[in-house]
Amino acid sequence: MTVSKRKFKAEVNQILDLMIHSLYSHKEIFLRELISNASDAIDKARYLALTDTNVNPGGDEWQIELIPDEAAGTLTVRDNGIGLTLDEAAESLGTIAHSGTKEFLKLLESREVKDNPELIGQFGVGFYSAFMVADQVVVVSRRAGAPAEQAVRWKSQADGSYTIEEVTKEGRGTDVILHLKEETKQYLKEWELRNVVKQYSDFIEYPVVMEVTRSKPDPDNEEKQVETTELETLNSRKAIWLKDKSEITEEEYHEFYKHISHDYTAPARTIHYKAEGTTEFSALLYLPKQRPFNIYYQDYKVGPTLYVRRVQIMDHCEAMLPPYLRFVKGVVESADLPLNVSREILQDNKIVNVIKKSITKKVLDTLAEMKKNEPDAYIEFYGEFGRVLKEGVHHDFERKEAIAELLLFETTKTEPGKKISLADYVARMPAEQKEIYYMTGPDRATAESSPYLEVFKEKGVEVILATDDIDDLIISQLGPYQEKEFQSAIKGDLDLGDTQKEEKQKEYGDLLALMQEQLKEQVSAVRVSGRLKDSAVCLVAGEHDLDPQMAKMFRAMGQEVPQGQRSLEVNPGHPLIAKMQELFAADAKSERLKEYVELLYDQALLLEGDRPRDPVAFARSLSKLMAETTEN
Ligand code: ADP
Repeated sequence: MTVSKRKFKAEVNQILDLMIHSLYSHKEIFLRELISNASDAIDKARYLALTDTNVNPGGDEWQIELIPDEAAGTLTVRDNGIGLTLDEAAESLGTIAHSGTKEFLKLLESREVKDNPELIGQFGVGFYSAFMVADQVVVVSRRAGAPAEQAVRWKSQADGSYTIEEVTKEGRGTDVILHLKEETKQYLKEWELRNVVKQYSDFIEYPVVMEVTRSKPDPDNEEKQVETTELETLNSRKAIWLKDKSEITEEEYHEFYKHISHDYTAPARTIHYKAEGTTEFSALLYLPKQRPFNIYYQDYKVGPTLYVRRVQIMDHCEAMLPPYLRFVKGVVESADLPLNVSREILQDNKIVNVIKKSITKKVLDTLAEMKKNEPDAYIEFYGEFGRVLKEGVHHDFERKEAIAELLLFETTKTEPGKKISLADYVARMPAEQKEIYYMTGPDRATAESSPYLEVFKEKGVEVILATDDIDDLIISQLGPYQEKEFQSAIKGDLDLGDTQKEEKQKEYGDLLALMQEQLKEQVSAVRVSGRLKDSAVCLVAGEHDLDPQMAKMFRAMGQEVPQGQRSLEVNPGHPLIAKMQELFAADAKSERLKEYVELLYDQALLLEGDRPRDPVAFARSLSKLMAETTEN
């Protein structure tokens, strides 16, 4: 038969043009693509061979072979799969007809890729990626079951056309022969091929083999070296996530965890399951024991490694895992996604969303189960990752109830280091307690010694110690828990059922009004406190104001935070207030009274961990009053 010359379809030229002229990085992915095609071709042949003895009459082992030829400057990727007829070759290797093409072409047209062509490297770029490294590609293929003389040779230099002819080929399957460009000759080197296979195709089910020549001591003469050439398998072929759970030992699970996480501590939990139904996938996920040092960094990589039909597509598929579960490591394999899938496409893909939902639920369910059945292990896990997990209350509205059940806190009644859940707290609430109380602070000791907790201590009311920087934000977004509202110990008016509060408010009404007038620049109200026992005064933020702890965090991040409307609360049981009432009764305009009010306000600032407005004036005023007291 004669050689026939044919033109490529327009979109093929478009893709080839990009491959050749714009893609500079990650050229090595051509090998991933060709090995993946070979593996698909074997899949098909293997399937046919189940019912047709003509497909693999010799019962050969299915395999993919890499044949580097230094002299010819060619790298051949050979498979013994299904092969192509002449018509199939013309059809498959001259057009683009696979799923994802439309998105791919759209992306090619986009500004983003035009400015930044490397972006398409993230795509599986299929057979045509061969032209990234080769200036000529020859495909010689023989369809399974076809006679030797009905094989096909396809040849192109990516110049807008290809030639196709009938030839004779000995075995079944396809040879893709790459005439490597001068600058990509490294793909003839054993170590380079080894590395690329290891990196991208390690878990391909079929052996990827290559002839390797080594010098070994001659068995007949120890002094002499002889060269031996053997076929060596380059990939480990262990797709452990596709195996049945019962076939995998604990050790194998851990080995694989090490491989993907580079964490040498055994994981806290392994989650391995297959989802069946409209979307099918396998997931092998791990909950680590130890927090990686960079988990709070912006560039921390989120998401499992994504495999499509045993080909690694990307090592972190962030579209598959919400960031608050970013501690989860693992692999997800789906046969429903196209190989040439990009991050952009994944962001809004139905299948990906189904998988994300499923693994999110699975992880949260596993944590709930762990909390119930292995509380100690859970507390340990929570110590490492609780701060990350609770971000979910803010980011995952749908699941905030489920996450709320996973939260743990120390309280004023737990031993340091021991934590209880919100459910435990509510179960311990006495009948007359209406709200869930919490106190924020940078650490337990600071939170606990705060004057804001005085009355809680006196009345024996348990208060949650919320010591993570984001706790106030999280708690205010939780909404009521088991129909109980959360009440901050340092915000809003507090009423622990003190009947005297109102009476006192009346009794000191005029004095409080005078103080309010004097401090009107600083506070929006001066009132009798429901929270103080030993201290004379404290400052209280409004119910809806930012918690001081949060405000501090934002300020540290360089953001401006308005002070909000604060109130000064006065302890009616404190002797100082009684003394001021006396002064007020004797002379409402007394200078000393004025000075007391200023000092009290500065004291309240001190109690908050802040500085007095004018430390020098404060110290002077205090010394003066002390001296006067001694005189008396
Ligand atoms: P995809 O593999 O995503 O369909 P490619 O551009 O990589 O896209 O390949 C196009 C087509 O060429 C494949 O669908 C297949 O029919 C055929 N093909 C490629 N490589 C082989 C091979 N090694 N053996 C048999 N057919 C192949």
